[in-house]
Amino acid sequence: DFIQIFVRKLRGEDQEEELTIDYVKVNNMTVKMPYQCFINGRFEDAEDGKTYSTINPTDGSVSLPVPPFTLNASVADFYRKPVKTLPAPSLRLADLMEEHQEELATIESIDSGAVYTLALKTHVGMSIQTFRYFAGWCDKIQGKTIPINQARPNRNLTFTKKEPLGVCAIVIPWNYPLMMLAWKSAACLAAGNTLVLKPAQVTPLTALKFAELSVKAGIPKGVINILPGSGGMVGQRLSDHPDIRKLGFTGSTPVGKQIMKSCALSNLKKVSLELGGKSPLIIFSDCDMDKAVRMGMSSVFFNKGENCIAAGRLFVEESIHDDVRKLGLSRRSWVFQQDNDPKHTAKKPQEWLREKRWTILKWPSMSFFMLPTVFTDVEDHMFIAKEESFGPVMVVSKFRNGDVDGVLQRANDTEYGLASGVFTRDINKAMYVSEQLEAGTVFVNTYNKTDVASPFGGFKQSGFGKDLGEDALSEYLKTKAVTVEY
Ligand code: NAP
Ligand code: MG
Repeated sequence: DFIQIFVRKLRGEDQEEELTIDYVKVNNMTVKMPYQCFINGRFEDAEDGKTYSTINPTDGSVSLPVPPFTLNASVADFYRKPVKTLPAPSLRLADLMEEHQEELATIESIDSGAVYTLALKTHVGMSIQTFRYFAGWCDKIQGKTIPINQARPNRNLTFTKKEPLGVCAIVIPWNYPLMMLAWKSAACLAAGNTLVLKPAQVTPLTALKFAELSVKAGIPKGVINILPGSGGMVGQRLSDHPDIRKLGFTGSTPVGKQIMKSCALSNLKKVSLELGGKSPLIIFSDCDMDKAVRMGMSSVFFNKGENCIAAGRLFVEESIHDDVRKLGLSRRSWVFQQDNDPKHTAKKPQEWLREKRWTILKWPSMSFFMLPTVFTDVEDHMFIAKEESFGPVMVVSKFRNGDVDGVLQRANDTEYGLASGVFTRDINKAMYVSEQLEAGTVFVNTYNKTDVASPFGGFKQSGFGKDLGEDALSEYLKTKAVTVEY
C-alpha cells in the first residue's frame, strides 16, 4: 500500500530510461508539459485512472487533467537511504531551469495566474538562484571539533557530523508554486535527503516540469518525487507517514497546526512551518516619501497580494497621512477602488477572497482577479486589520505624530510575526524599531527584499524554521556527536 512505497529500495543502478511526456499546445506554442505523478523517475497515471482538472485562473479554462496520487506500492520504488549530496547535478538543474525559463514561466502563468513577466523574473528567476545557491552548500556541510572534559588518565575528543534526515516531505501552497518548491527542495537536496513533494492541488504543473528537468540534470531516480493531489488526502498521508522523518510546510496557520499534530502523533517527525502573516509597515514622516509610497504599494500589491510577507497593515504618521494618500492615488499604475463604507469593512473581504480564491470582477473578462482595493482609516479591532487577506487589499491607519512606542505596540499586537517594515531617515529610530518589532524579517527603507542568502521565516503563529540562507540547511540535517577516548 501507499506506506510501503517509501521503504522500497532502488532496484539496481539508475539506467537511462526514456521519459514519456505529453505535449500540449498553448496559444499556438507547443509546451512540453508533464502532468502525471512523478515517482521514482517516471511519470505515472493514477492507478484508478482518475484525474482532476487544473484550471487557468486568467479565463477559467481547463489546462490539463492531472491524476491525483493514488498509485499503489507495487509500481513505485523510492530511495530510502539518503543519497550523497549532489553539487554537480544541482548546478546542472539550475542551468536547465534557466534554459527552460520561458517555458517554466509560461506554465506558471497558465497554472497560477501569475503575470508572465513576474513569473519569469521572480517565480522562475529566484527559483534558479535558489538552486545555484544551495548547490554551493553541498560540499560545505561540516561539523565541529569540540573540547570536552578529559577523563584522566585518558583524553577525549568530541566531533560532530551533520547528517541528512532521510526521506523528507514537502507541502507547499499555490501563490509561488515553483519558488516554494525551490526554497525547500534545494536545501533539502543539498543536505543529502530524498524528497516527496506535494504541490498545491490547483498548481501542480511547474513542479512536474521541474521533475522532468531533474531527470535531465542527472538527479538519480527516486531522489525527487512529485505527488499532486489534495492536502486532505496526499498531504495528510505524508504527515502521518511512519518512514518520513521531516515535513517542510508552507501554507496557512490552521493547516500548519494540523500538520504538526499529525507529525507528532505518527513518528515525531521534524517539522518546519512557514505560515501566514499580517505584516506591519510603519511609515514615519521623516522618510523618503516618494520611495515609501512606491514601496508601500508593492509591499501590498506585489504578486497580486498573494504574498505571505505582504504588508497587511500600513501605519502612517498622522502629519504625512494625507500626502501619502494623495501620492498613492496619483500613481497611474495602480487601480484603486476606495471603500470606506462601514458596511463593507464589516463584511470581511477575506470571505470574498476565500470563497472563490478571488472575487470575480469581470476584469479582464471571465477572469478571477480582484482589483487592488484600499481601506483607509482602519481601526485595529476591525476584521480587515486582523486577518490575512492574501489578496490585493491595502489596510491603512494613522498613528499620532512622534508616537514610536504606541505604533510599535499596535504593530506587535498580533499573533503573526512573519515580516515587518519601517521607513524613516533616522538611523536611531530605524534601529530601535527593528529591535522592537516581533517578526522574523524587518525591512528598513525597503520591502519584499528577499534574497537566497538571507534566512526567511516567522515568529509566533507565523511558524518556525527558516527557508533560504545557511539556516535552511539545519532544517534538513541532524547533528551527530562522536566522542572518542584515547
Ligand atoms: P493552505 O490551505 O494551508 O494549503 C497549503 C498546502 O497544504 C496545500 O498544498 C494544501 O493542499 C495542503 N494541505 C491542506 N490540508 C492539509 C493537511 N491536512 N495535511 C497536509 N497538507 C494539507 O494554504 P493556502 O491557502 O493554499 O496558501 C496560502 C497560505 O500560505 C497563506 O496563509 C500564506 O500566508 C501562506 N504562505 C506562507 C508563506 C511563508 O513563507 N510563510 C509563503 C507563502 C504562503 P491543497 O492543495 O488541497 O490546498
Ligand atoms: Mg491551476
